[in-house]
Amino acid sequence: MRKSIIAVAIGAALTVAACGDKEAAQTATEQAAEQTQQTTEQGAAAEFNQSNPFYAESSLPFQAPDFTKIEFAHYEPALLAGIEEHAKEIEAIAANSEPATFENTIVAMEKSGQLLGRVAAVFGNVAGSAGNDEFRALQVKMAPKFAAHSDNINLNADLFARVKTVYENRDQLEGEALRLVEDTYKGFVRAGAELSDDQQARIREINSEMSSVTTEFRNNLMNLVDENMVVVEDKAELAGLTESQIARLASTAESKDMPGKYVITVTNTTRQPILSSLENRELREKVWKASALRGSGNTATDNRPLVKKLAELRAEKAELLGYENWGAYVLERSMASAPEAAQSMLRDLVPAVVSNVKGEMVAIQDVINAEGGEFEVEPWDWAFYAEKVRAEKYAMDSNEVKQYFEFNRVVEDGVFYAMNQLFGISFEKRDDIPTYADDIVVYEVKDVDGESLGLFYGDWFTRDGKRGGAWMSSFVSQSHLMDTKPVILNNMNITKAADGEPTLLSFDEVSTMFHEMGHALHGMFSDVMYPSLAGTSVSRDYVEFPSTFQEDWTLNPKVLANMAKHHETGEQIPQELLDKVMAAKNFNMGYDTLEYIAAALLDLEYHTLTKEAAASIEDVNQFEEGALVRNGVDVDAVPPRYRSNFFAHVFAGGYSAGYYAYMWSEVLAADAFKYVQENGGLTLENGQAFRDAILSKGNSKDPMQQYIDFRGQKPTVDALLERRGLTAPKID
Ligand SMILES: [Zn+2]
Repeated sequence: MRKSIIAVAIGAALTVAACGDKEAAQTATEQAAEQTQQTTEQGAAAEFNQSNPFYAESSLPFQAPDFTKIEFAHYEPALLAGIEEHAKEIEAIAANSEPATFENTIVAMEKSGQLLGRVAAVFGNVAGSAGNDEFRALQVKMAPKFAAHSDNINLNADLFARVKTVYENRDQLEGEALRLVEDTYKGFVRAGAELSDDQQARIREINSEMSSVTTEFRNNLMNLVDENMVVVEDKAELAGLTESQIARLASTAESKDMPGKYVITVTNTTRQPILSSLENRELREKVWKASALRGSGNTATDNRPLVKKLAELRAEKAELLGYENWGAYVLERSMASAPEAAQSMLRDLVPAVVSNVKGEMVAIQDVINAEGGEFEVEPWDWAFYAEKVRAEKYAMDSNEVKQYFEFNRVVEDGVFYAMNQLFGISFEKRDDIPTYADDIVVYEVKDVDGESLGLFYGDWFTRDGKRGGAWMSSFVSQSHLMDTKPVILNNMNITKAADGEPTLLSFDEVSTMFHEMGHALHGMFSDVMYPSLAGTSVSRDYVEFPSTFQEDWTLNPKVLANMAKHHETGEQIPQELLDKVMAAKNFNMGYDTLEYIAAALLDLEYHTLTKEAAASIEDVNQFEEGALVRNGVDVDAVPPRYRSNFFAHVFAGGYSAGYYAYMWSEVLAADAFKYVQENGGLTLENGQAFRDAILSKGNSKDPMQQYIDFRGQKPTVDALLERRGLTAPKID
């Protein structure tokens, strides 16, 4: 069941390896499904014939898509024909008169959906990287068809009966085949395949109710922005802002029919970027409260009943499916495997993080006192005074740093060089492979012995129609069963310099490029039999591990010596400047970490409730406060990054019981990276060990076992604290 491929087609927001703590947690699927009305289908599949480039496998090397032939008009008929073909294949598997076997059921399912996979991968990628309104309209149009298609598979009782037979006879299987059977079977069970008709009917009701409550929550978030905007009449109150910031606030006011005034709108985190510059303390307080109190009954739109309702519905669904709570259901297939493990990891961090926060608070209070301010730091003061501390102690000219990170040099002498030192691989340009935009570079990746591993597309530059951020995805995933080698893409949004000028990168951009290469190699080194277990098709709390691991080579002395040279003089980056980069990187890290873990723990508190406990929540605000206190993360000046009533990841998107995942992956990355540093660092031996245990395995083996195979033990949080500069608390 090529679930990931279908997801890619529906929306680029779901591309294989999502990166970063994105504000917009709503999935493209949900968005599309909601906006779409039933459309009538006019037999577009009938137009599908040999003239369509998706009709047959691409004849280009590695089955690379042939962009000299692909036109927008080809997508829709190919997608529809792909769904139709896949549905027929699944029907045939379900109706097979032979007794169910691993081969004729599970392997047959793995082999099905080739056409759909082929077109969906290209469509999803191009829509996300070079799309336009046409692409978006087609995504919206296709979303309900994809949803119905996957329901038809998941709820096919005959198919499930066969899968169950294979599952019950699984003692004949081992290794990857065994994991695939368990994974496939679990997928059906988790959708409710084992329940009675009545229970299934209730699950459908719950699903539909959950979907309308999350939609309402999400729509409310937009109303809340309007209801909580802060209107400023007197420009003098905006002291501290630049003229262009002020002009933006004026034009927002104009668009809201308040010409001559200034309107500050809140962004969807508790902290507000504008607070670092606003000098007027009363205005800061107003803005902060508009943000932090939104949805809690301070204005007409109130999200508290929705938070409670969702906690109840999720607990009920989990109980129906036989789980203790929603977190247990969601995390069953993650590396953490249970909410307790995620909670325990987060709680292990709390003492050191809180201690660092207190140190940061002292430095901030010192500035307040020195300026004669007779008040204690409040949440609306933090960013403003932290900025003063930063300017005083960690001043850095980021433009100066950029002079040492020229784009081509970072790619070739940085990222490719480091991967060559670690894995022995090399990147050879392939000018003969067509691409969907001019500025994409294609490389053939050669293994240490000269064998071809696959193709790598570097789509690093920003363009119209490309979504924000950075991510990795693929056109073809590795599989021995299908005899395919990986065709992988990395996307970033680097702004290209004017013609003839060098493109210079920020330190963050350099580190992001290493990060995405980490995902790319997870796809590239995949060495598995079955496509649905390949590469990055791992759980959310594991997928960011290989990528975050590679980030830290950015600061390896050998890599820096090769990469970080002044673009004009060729001179090495001075150590003094590097030290500043490091110090600035970890500045305010106590605050950043605490606000994150407070939100992650809050998420898990809601999703470890029984149905009865969720139903007995009297006041969401009080529940939140109690949850923070219980976990020791109730620092007044450092509220959670998201408070319950606008926690979109959890109550409007797909991250419920999963917000911890970013930190979990970083814990693994830091622990593994430190271990490598203590054992020789940038060597082929270390690279091979990492590749053997982790990068080659995809989801073919339990992730904790993969980790232990590499590391010899489970991870601890110590290295994470070091990575974030939180080991030596500034005060006790
Ligand atoms: Zn990532």
